[in-house]
Amino acid sequence: MSRVMLVTGASRGIGAATARLAAARGYALCINYHQRRDAAEQLVEAIRKAGGEATAVAADVAREDEVARLFEACDRAFGRLDVLVNNAGMLERQMRLDEMDAARLARVFATNVTGSFLCAREAVRRMSTRHGGSGGSIVNVSSVAAKLGAPNEYIDYAAAKGAIDSMTLGLAKEVAAEGIRVNAVRPGVIDTEIHASGGEPDRIQRVSKSVPMGRGGQAEEVARAILWLASDEASYTSGALLDVAGAR
Ligand code: NAP
Repeated sequence: MSRVMLVTGASRGIGAATARLAAARGYALCINYHQRRDAAEQLVEAIRKAGGEATAVAADVAREDEVARLFEACDRAFGRLDVLVNNAGMLERQMRLDEMDAARLARVFATNVTGSFLCAREAVRRMSTRHGGSGGSIVNVSSVAAKLGAPNEYIDYAAAKGAIDSMTLGLAKEVAAEGIRVNAVRPGVIDTEIHASGGEPDRIQRVSKSVPMGRGGQAEEVARAILWLASDEASYTSGALLDVAGAR
């Protein structure tokens, strides 16, 4: 029986690359998306054409009722869960902290923090031996912004990713004896559409100069790190924050 992976925010970018690679490695995929249904369904179609198993499920991870429905849909489709990749994330237009309002902060923390917590909760309820599960792995997608702080761009987003790092450390310890490993990747500047939502589609060109490797990364390079952390190859690795950032 295939191992089952649920990837949040898998319609594009790092999530889609992770789902594609996981399918090629034999996982059955539950592909969550928020608004880009066409992209998610095209990905499902491509995975099925290649002989893999996948299903797409719409859900806003910031909403508790929708997260519950997402995991129930995954249960119905595959009957088990082995890996959660907490990838869904967003940022808003670049600005200084002294311009930010509470509504923006609420949106940024709801998707990036609450969404990851709610999905982790549902995964633990299914995977933990304490709840009758047979173990599993959670990979959170944080960011090097958590350590760099993202000044003049989005300190709110950086702080949200800092919360994800703390959650990774705490949850890893909380469920270590229950068969679940919890780790995070911290990507650097990766070539996806997220920079356009910050108002700077070409951000990668500007920021690449400050990356010791001299370039931005590709979504597939992050996906490979996620797949390693998810796999039994990383059987003694938990509570790790793995930078995938060109030495930044
Ligand atoms: P992206 O290309 O903008 O894709 C974002 C994905 O998240 C989309 O699939 C989107 O779904 C989904 N999403 C957004 N809000 C959601 C919500 N409320 N509920 C469910 N899904 C939601 O972003 P990316 O660059 O691949 O980023 C993926 C993760 O990597 C994020 O956590 C991001 O913070 C992190 N990261 C990215 C970089 C980078 O440089 N790209 C660096 C560090 C960390 P729809 O398209 O269906 O709306």
